[in-house]
Amino acid sequence: MTTSNQNSTGDWQARDQRHYLHPFTDYKELAAKGSRIITRADGVYIWDSDGNKILDGMAGLWCVNIGYGRQELAEAAYRQMQELPYYNSFFQCAHPPAIELAELLGEVSPEQFNSSFLTGSGSEANDTVIRLVRRYWSLMEQPNKQIIISRKNAYHGSTIAAASLGGMSAMHKQGSLPIPGIVHIEQPYYFGLGGELSADEFGTQQARLLEEAIQQLGSENVAAFIGEPVQGAGGVVIPPDTYWPEIQRICDDNDILLIADEVITGFGRLGEWFGSTHYGIRPDLMSFAKGVTSGYLPLGGVLVSDRVVDVIHKGDEFAHGFTYSGHPAACAVALANIRILRDEGIIETVKNEKAPYFQEQWSTLGDHSIVGEARSVGLMGAIELVCDKSTRERFAKEQKAGERCRDFCVDNGLVMRAVGDSMIVAPPLVIEKNQIDELIEKARRCLDLTAAALTSA
Ligand code: PMP
Repeated sequence: MTTSNQNSTGDWQARDQRHYLHPFTDYKELAAKGSRIITRADGVYIWDSDGNKILDGMAGLWCVNIGYGRQELAEAAYRQMQELPYYNSFFQCAHPPAIELAELLGEVSPEQFNSSFLTGSGSEANDTVIRLVRRYWSLMEQPNKQIIISRKNAYHGSTIAAASLGGMSAMHKQGSLPIPGIVHIEQPYYFGLGGELSADEFGTQQARLLEEAIQQLGSENVAAFIGEPVQGAGGVVIPPDTYWPEIQRICDDNDILLIADEVITGFGRLGEWFGSTHYGIRPDLMSFAKGVTSGYLPLGGVLVSDRVVDVIHKGDEFAHGFTYSGHPAACAVALANIRILRDEGIIETVKNEKAPYFQEQWSTLGDHSIVGEARSVGLMGAIELVCDKSTRERFAKEQKAGERCRDFCVDNGLVMRAVGDSMIVAPPLVIEKNQIDELIEKARRCLDLTAAALTSA
């Protein structure tokens, strides 16, 4: 245990500043403001070291699907650590938690999936995807099929390969990325790029960019297409309904593998076990992480369809793996988490009750004077901050509208994330209706505060 409650916020902040290098953090800003120290959590709430109670509208980092404080997961880890805290699955070894988890993942996923490769994170899962699809085509005696097509503003992780797969220009700039063999096409971001087209027309048009890219590169050189069913970190970019069916058609027609990055959309976020089911697509591989353990312990992986597994099984050694692939304690926690999601009907409740209610309430924010669009799907939503609703004109960059709105939110008891001037939420799936009301009310109050601050500036 840490000694969190005995130390003051100032003391934690000073030690943090001195020793801890934070991920995805502007270090100058951090030094100026000091970090917010989170000390405990329960249900859908977190508490900071000053005792403030904050509604976690982001479920941690889109991962605490079953909410905080579930004893069953702590007990599963404790029991497993006593029985077998660690062993690996290299060189013809296995252990019961990894086998049971891979089996259960096969049961809750679409029918083409019966096998999983396990990793420690979503980034490692997507690195594994690259290794698997290239291995697949080489065993299929089409070794030129190497290129993976992805999208601009996609997020697939932060290792060199996963950041290359992703389409985040800020990440590419900081590391001479992407690595060769990855090509990015434009994203299906209707609010930002749709112009005068209808949503359906725009969806088809953006999907056809894949077909154009394949034609240019030659389908004999293209291994796969990867996409998040809904782009999360890119700003909850919800594709028009025409988008995914057209992508599926193009992948089928050109014999390229379809990969769904389900790291955010897996395990119930859209009211289905996987977002691919919501959009009616049939991927060949699905990467997952986050919600598989509700974030209680790190675990990720790739669900691999029988079509791909049958080929991989024919090869000799697959020269890939991680020390923590199938870590026993993480697998035990994932098993307990998936059973809770299943036995408590949490995903059905999202689909039938929580998501429809959330969507109805979230859409009311669209009336606000600085909101250009309030969109949502399942239990994830975005609002676009604009200074002119009719033209969708954005605030000047220096006004930092998104950042200010985010700061108002957290100061008023709500975690809402800013992606530029898009404000996004993805609360725990167990959020109750009165807590959805609280989320909307706080979001509206903070939009008011943001509007007042921006217009008085
Ligand atoms: N894919 C997606 C869609 C993600 O949102 C993330 C994390 N936000 C990742 C991959 C990477 O996962 P991790 O941070 O566990 O490496």
